[in-house]
Amino acid sequence: MEIIVHRGTHQIGGCATEIRTGTTRILIDFGAELPDETGYVPPDHLEIDGLNVGAPGFDAVLLTHYHGDHLGLINRIPDSIPVYLGRSAVEVHKCFARRLARRDPEGFEVSQRLRTLDAMVPLVIGDIRVTPLPADHSAWDALMFLVEADGKRVLHTGDFRLHGFRGKATLPVLEKYAAGVDVLIMEGTRLSGGSHAGISERELQGRLKEAIRANKYVFVLCASTNIDRLASIQNVTPRGRYFICDHYQKEILDVVRACAKSGCYGFPKVTTYGKNLEHRFRKQGFVMAVRGNPLFAGIAAGYPDAVLVYSMWEGYLDGRNPALSAFVKPFKESGRMQVLHTSGHAAPEDLKAVCDAVKPARGVIPIHGRRPEDFDGLGLSAPVIALADGEVFQL
Ligand SMILES: [Zn+2]
Ligand SMILES: [Zn+2]
Repeated sequence: MEIIVHRGTHQIGGCATEIRTGTTRILIDFGAELPDETGYVPPDHLEIDGLNVGAPGFDAVLLTHYHGDHLGLINRIPDSIPVYLGRSAVEVHKCFARRLARRDPEGFEVSQRLRTLDAMVPLVIGDIRVTPLPADHSAWDALMFLVEADGKRVLHTGDFRLHGFRGKATLPVLEKYAAGVDVLIMEGTRLSGGSHAGISERELQGRLKEAIRANKYVFVLCASTNIDRLASIQNVTPRGRYFICDHYQKEILDVVRACAKSGCYGFPKVTTYGKNLEHRFRKQGFVMAVRGNPLFAGIAAGYPDAVLVYSMWEGYLDGRNPALSAFVKPFKESGRMQVLHTSGHAAPEDLKAVCDAVKPARGVIPIHGRRPEDFDGLGLSAPVIALADGEVFQL
């Protein structure tokens, strides 16, 4: 078996990891570069022979989750190569692709032919067997992949954390299914700094509850696909107050409700915003899930005493997203903004806990971080295998 991290050994995002045998090639994630602090996304020249250049040579592409830094380049994959994503994640991604269909018709088409994966249900591709395992992340239905071939076993974590609602299940699952792998390919975002320090999602929910109790009109700015955060908002919206969102957000929550096995994601209280309902919202008070765009800014302007709970990474407020900054500005300037966020990525001690759970015999390959050598300070129980992008690792 060979492992090639085509991109991601020395950067966050833009992930692409190949695992191949003598007869089969699979790619895990084909992500776009993240924008820099000016909002600029450099032209993406990532070329992988057999995938987006040369004759098609890959047997499958498997996506850990729907964030752009993991699937942003899937438009460049020829139709003949199947692309897989978690079953519920596909439905959420389709909502997103439908919304952007006019701007990105190709992306919409690609979303329609995504194939589905189910956690714990192995997929056999040539002589490679992949078992998706559930991952706790700020994307819904994120997966880790246990890859087995040539008598070797590799765990690819994708993006994950242990401090979300579903984080507790991760270590027992890994101990049961992935203990004693040969290689652990693991994300290390938080080691590069920049990501928000971690309170647990449950602690965050408690603080959100206080903010909502203390204020009649509350806007919560979070990613439309951060389903755990939206579940938190709903959980702490008191009886008699409205939990409002727009049509697009409602569409996503309806998809989640239809897919979810847990009642926690039922979203029974949510009301779609309509101008005709404003008098009721004003009378009873509300919590509204919003995004940083002029539409929501227009609504917010009608509530000069409302507060904003900013529930995304604070780095986005550095000017790279002008619409977001414009939305936030009046709240910030009048002292009506509170930041309540927690990262979608694992804390350093949780990276160590995962390594201890799976005990990789050969070592850990760091990805999704700027410096693989940052892993050296974790005191891991396995050697760190620092690769360069494109380097072939023989297993
Ligand atoms: Zn990522
Ligand atoms: Zn992610």
